[in-house]
Formats: sequence, C-alpha cells, structure tokens
Amino acid sequence: MTERYDLLVIGGGSGGLAHAQRAAEYGVNAAVVEKAALGGTCVNVGCVPKKVMWYAAHHAHQFHHLADYGFDAEVTGHDWAGLKARRDAYIERLNGIYENNLDKRGVVWLSGTARFVDAHTVDIDGRRVEAERIVIASGGRPTVPDIPGAELGITSDGFFELEERPQRVLIAGSGYIAVELAGVFNALGSDVQLVIRKDSILRSFDSMLSGELMQAMDREHIDVVSRVIPQFIEKTDEGIVLHAEDGRSFGPVDCLVWAIGRTPNTEELDLGNAGVEHDAEGYVPTDKFQQTNVDNVFALGDVTGRAQLTPVAIAAGRRLADRLYGGMEGRHLEYELIPTVIFSHPAIGTVGLSEDEARELYGDDVKVYTSGFTGMYYALGTNKKRSAMKLVTVGDDEKVVGCHVIGEGADEMMQGFAVAMRMGATKKDFDDTVAIHPTSAEELVTMR
Ligand code: FAD
Ligand code: NDP
Repeated sequence: MTERYDLLVIGGGSGGLAHAQRAAEYGVNAAVVEKAALGGTCVNVGCVPKKVMWYAAHHAHQFHHLADYGFDAEVTGHDWAGLKARRDAYIERLNGIYENNLDKRGVVWLSGTARFVDAHTVDIDGRRVEAERIVIASGGRPTVPDIPGAELGITSDGFFELEERPQRVLIAGSGYIAVELAGVFNALGSDVQLVIRKDSILRSFDSMLSGELMQAMDREHIDVVSRVIPQFIEKTDEGIVLHAEDGRSFGPVDCLVWAIGRTPNTEELDLGNAGVEHDAEGYVPTDKFQQTNVDNVFALGDVTGRAQLTPVAIAAGRRLADRLYGGMEGRHLEYELIPTVIFSHPAIGTVGLSEDEARELYGDDVKVYTSGFTGMYYALGTNKKRSAMKLVTVGDDEKVVGCHVIGEGADEMMQGFAVAMRMGATKKDFDDTVAIHPTSAEELVTMR
C-alpha cells in the first residue's frame, strides 16, 4: 500500500527539518526522509563538531597569555580522544533532541534513501510514498579530486572520525574548511602545511581578510604554499606524499585532508524520473521562491548551490513553509547581505560586498574606511595579535555595503552590524552610535 502525505521532504538536515517542522506547525501532514543521522551535515559533520574543535583551539591560544595575567599554570598535554568522546556524546544527544522535535510536531521520520519515481512519488528502499508537494533538501558531501591515490586523503567527514591527532598534516584547499581545520590542527600541536591552487586563501572574500589571515597563519607557523595543483598521491614508508603537476612534492605526512568544496547529493535521487532539472555540477536550480522547474517540487539549502550555510538553509525552509502553508504570500529568502563567520584563528566576520565587488558595481562612488590595531587583550605581553576592519561605503550618503573584520571577537561582532546594514545604515549612523568601551567592536563606530 502506498503511504500518502501532504508534504515529503528529502533530507533531514538544517533546511529539510526547518521546513517540515514549520509546515507541521501550520497543520500540514509532513514526513522527512533521512538516510543517516538527523541533523544533517551541520549537526553531525559540520558546524557543531567544528565549533567544539574551534573552542579547543581557542583555549590553546589563550594558554599563551596566562602568564601575562599573573597565572602560574603549565599545560602539559591535550587529550584529543577524550575531547572526541565528549563531542560525539553531545552530538548523539542532539540527534535525540532532533528526533523528539519531529515527534512533538507529528512529523514522520522515514529512515532510508529516497529516489524519485515520478513528480509525486518517491521510493524509499522499496517503500512507496506519495506526496502533494516534495522538497529536495539533500545537501552535499565533500569533494574528493579525481586523481590517483586521492583516497589516501580524508575529508572534513574523516576529520571528525580521527581518534588521535596526526602530527604532520597537509591540507589541500583554500576556503572555509581548509583554514578552519588548519587553525585547529595548528593550535593543538600539529605541523600544518596548506597547499592552495592560486596565490591566496579565501579568494571570494575581501582581500584584506585573506591577506591578514595569511600573515596570521605565517606567524603561527602554518606553511601556506601557493600554485599547487595536485597530480597524484602516494603512500610511502614515511607517510603520505602529494605530488603536484609542476613536479614539486609535499610530505610525507600522517594525514592529508581534502578541503576543496562540496558536491551536491543528487545522483541517487533519479531527478529525471520527476522531470526535475539540475545543472552541470548536479545542483538543483530554483527561482527566488525555491521552486524548481516542476510545479510541486521545491529545493532548498546546499543542494541549490547558493550560500552553503546552515542559517540560509533554515531561513529558506521556514520562509517556504510560511508562503505555502502560512498564508504569507510572496515570502521568500533574499540572498543578499548574508553575514558569515569563518572560524579561523583569528576569526573572521564578514557581511556584504568586498571592496573589489563594490568598486566593480559602483566605481568611484565607493569610499573605504580601514583600521588595524592590537586588541587590548594582548597589551600586557609580547605575543601580540592584530585585528583589522574595513567598512565599504557607497554614494554621497556613504551607505555601508560591506563590513569586514578579522581578529579577537569578530565571530560575535557581526550579527548586530548585519541588522544595521539590512536597515540601510550609513557611515553617519555608525558614527552617531555611541561606542562600547573598551572593546574591539567600538573601532567600527569610530573609524575616520
Ligand atoms: P544537509 O545538512 O547536508 O542535510 C542533507 C541531508 O540529506 C543529509 O542528512 C543527508 O544524509 C540527507 N540525504 C541526502 N540524500 C538523501 C537521500 N537520497 N535520501 C535520504 N536522505 C538523503 N554552516 C554554517 O552556517 N556555519 C558553520 O560554522 C558551518 N560549518 C561547517 C563546517 C563543515 C566541516 C561543513 C562541511 C559545513 C559547515 N557549514 C557551516 C555548512 C552547513 O553545514 C550546511 O550549509 C548545512 O548543513 C546545509 O543544510 P542542508 O539542509 O542544505 O543539507
Ligand atoms: P569553499 O567553497 O569554501 O572553498 C573551496 C576552495 O578550494 C575553492 O574556493 C577553491 O579555491 C579551492 N579548490 C576548488 N577545487 C579545487 C581543487 N580541485 N584543488 C585545489 N583547490 C581547489 O569549500 P569548503 O570545502 O571549504 O567548504 C564548503 C562550504 O561549506 C563553504 O563554501 C561554506 O559555504 C560551508 N562552510 C561554512 C563554514 C562556516 O560558516 N564557518 C565552515 C565550513 C564550511 P581557489 O579557486 O582559490 O583555488
């Protein structure tokens, strides 16, 4: 017998769960298909365990300043395996909470792998389910390059499985994950080399951020090597070696990590059976209402290829439910001015246009304010770390279109400034706001 629901969501990650739960709150009979653990990438192999590791690394950095503040403390080691066990237990608790949340709202969890039969029917490991509307929220997975020996490396998924800290680490990639994992390994005591394809890291962000982080990594003895195109990977008696196309080789190391982007989970969905289009990379394009080319099929989150962030997937999912079932006509997510934090060491917080993007759009109408300083936290010692900030403004009224910060506290700084920018704040509004002293954030309202 075929089961029937008003709504079937494929993927129990950030976006899928948010959509199904909001829909259920409006009285919709909803089910979620999830083949792995509830919570998806963010909870199981993404934001959550990553932030735990970032906190561990953050502690390691703080230890260097204990003596400056009068403490006579010596840290003699770090129990990676113990930390992992506590982290895993925390995530298991979260998995349970996510299951409870579904139960409380009457959303059914169908455990298994979904595959389209037609635009209204999905096969879940042999079980047929029909639904009036189907939402694809199947996310993505780490990309592994198609070169000989690539399987000798791990990805961010494998990072979270490591039972002990590898001493010699090589990371290939230059985005969020590469710099975040480099920071964690380095702070906890590994020797880290980062090999990048071009000349700088984080190329899609303001150049001040990438430049400052490259310098900070250099000070922390993370070796960043540019223009490396991996050709093949080899396992030798001494460890794993990466051979580049230009003849250079890197290693031997104990652990090679691929951090070169993600691949959408769409192959096993048999999208063609439902007539749903995907692009050359496998992403499912949608209009601004998360609508695919098929009337009753929607897509949201990482699988659409736009701003691959948890709050983006959640916001798209909730807004879609508000529009379809909550009577909020026209409600949709705007994909501009999305604030984001890169949990590097130091952290980066950024929202809006980079200086280069603004100059391309607005030419000479752009005016930029910058600030570079050493935070007061470092005033008492010799191990000083820099912070840097940039405001990008446009027009005579100097509307703030970009706000970029690297340094202590940047991670917690950006949320409020993002609100101000959404409301159209100008440089004068920033200047007219009384500073909070003594903080690093006050620099953003005192720049000249
Ligand atoms: P996912 O969370 O990936 O969920 C998709 C789900 O679909 C998965 O559980 C999968 O098992 C399931 N699925 C796939 N195919 C099928 C199928 N055929 N049948 C049944 N189930 C299926 N974002 C932030 O905002 N902040 C961060 O700090 C952050 N850190 C990150 C760190 C790492 C290491 C990584 C990898 C990502 C990080 N992200 C972060 C990104 C964030 O995790 C994703 O943007 C977010 O999880 C996307 O949610 P989603 O619902 O689109 O997909
Ligand atoms: P990113 O897209 O951030 O960066 C990957 C980078 O790797 C590319 O930009 C590219 O940079 C480089 N690259 C691509 N292909 C290759 C290749 N074949 N060989 C070598 N280098 C290559 O991807 P990540 O994997 O770091 O992260 C995936 C996504 O997850 C992020 O985009 C982000 O949306 C999300 N995420 C968010 C986090 C957060 O919010 N803090 C943390 C972690 C992930 P170049 O062109 O310069 O070579």
